[in-house]
Amino acid sequence: MTANLLDYDLDGLAAFCETLGEKRFRATQLYRWIHQRGASDFDQMSDLAKALRAKLRGVARIEGLPVISQHDSADGTIKWLFDVGQGNAVEAVFIPEDDRGTLCVSSQAGCAVGCRFCSTGHQGFARNLTTGEIVAQLWFAEHYLRQHLQTQERVISNVVMMGMGEPLQNYAALVPALRTMLDDHGYGLSRRRVTVSTSGVVPMMDRLGQDCPVALAVSLHAPADALRDNLVPINRKYPLAELLDACNRYLAHAPRDFITFEYCMLEGVNDQPEHAALLIDLVRRHGGTGVPCKFNLIPFNPFPQSGLRRSSQAQVQAFAKLLSDAGIVTTVRKTRGDDIDAACGQLAGDVRDRTRVEVRIARQRSVVELPASVGGSA
Ligand code: SF4
Repeated sequence: MTANLLDYDLDGLAAFCETLGEKRFRATQLYRWIHQRGASDFDQMSDLAKALRAKLRGVARIEGLPVISQHDSADGTIKWLFDVGQGNAVEAVFIPEDDRGTLCVSSQAGCAVGCRFCSTGHQGFARNLTTGEIVAQLWFAEHYLRQHLQTQERVISNVVMMGMGEPLQNYAALVPALRTMLDDHGYGLSRRRVTVSTSGVVPMMDRLGQDCPVALAVSLHAPADALRDNLVPINRKYPLAELLDACNRYLAHAPRDFITFEYCMLEGVNDQPEHAALLIDLVRRHGGTGVPCKFNLIPFNPFPQSGLRRSSQAQVQAFAKLLSDAGIVTTVRKTRGDDIDAACGQLAGDVRDRTRVEVRIARQRSVVELPASVGGSA
């Protein structure tokens, strides 16, 4: 079995090249070809000696994920469904805005956390993605978009690890993937523009702060433990007080001076004025000094199995006003790509159990004309 070079950050690739008797600068050249130019064929790499290219062909490959389907929304949002084998699929979503292009990336096939409002949580957990499978989503999307938009400029300026899965429960694969996103020889993204979203895996928040601090979003969704235990079951292991302590510790390393709290608005469950009052109290008073934060209110994407309903727009606005009036910067997430069901996997309204994924993959394979993979398999 050859090594998939998408699995390596630059240090990893340098170590791999060393086993071939090659110096680090060769690894840098190779890494730039792969990530900056989207190369998937060693013969494209014209500044590498022919003998090295031949050697690489024998021991390595650059292999992306097969695209099952691509959905283009009228508002420019694009969703890709990638095949990760054995009937599993993961999503990545590109969201263009005036001043940025954001890619929402998945870290696991399914998720073990089981948040009540999340369709991915209802699918159960299949497996962790490899580093290469995480990076492949960005690699494909960036080079597809450059080709599609006929530009040599970078298209994706922001990555949010908010697709399917809990990234901090796939830590070993996540960190090298983040390093490739940040590396100037890779995608060169600013730490402030790469966001890891977590349901609150406290020990791994601490490790991320040490190993690879990037922007952090925390899925809060409730102002008190009793309710959060129910909505975000990991709260039973890491309750709010521990989570907020970890947020403050993280801020000592973070590239931003605030944590973003995600809050999914659920009618009659967590959207009442008393919930807003408890939230304000929680983030203001925790540990005596509070937690510097912003809130992002997310309109719930209903699906039948959840037994939950979306808060009305008026309720969301009223809730946002209560937080804003208390001096907390609060935004309401715009729904994008409604016509293609493009909410990131963790909030997508289309519940797929494992069997349905297989059926859907088979169906879409037969009816969808796939876009030409820019990288494709070597
Ligand atoms: S919201 Fe995130 S952590 Fe919770 S079940 Fe969904 S993917 Fe997992």
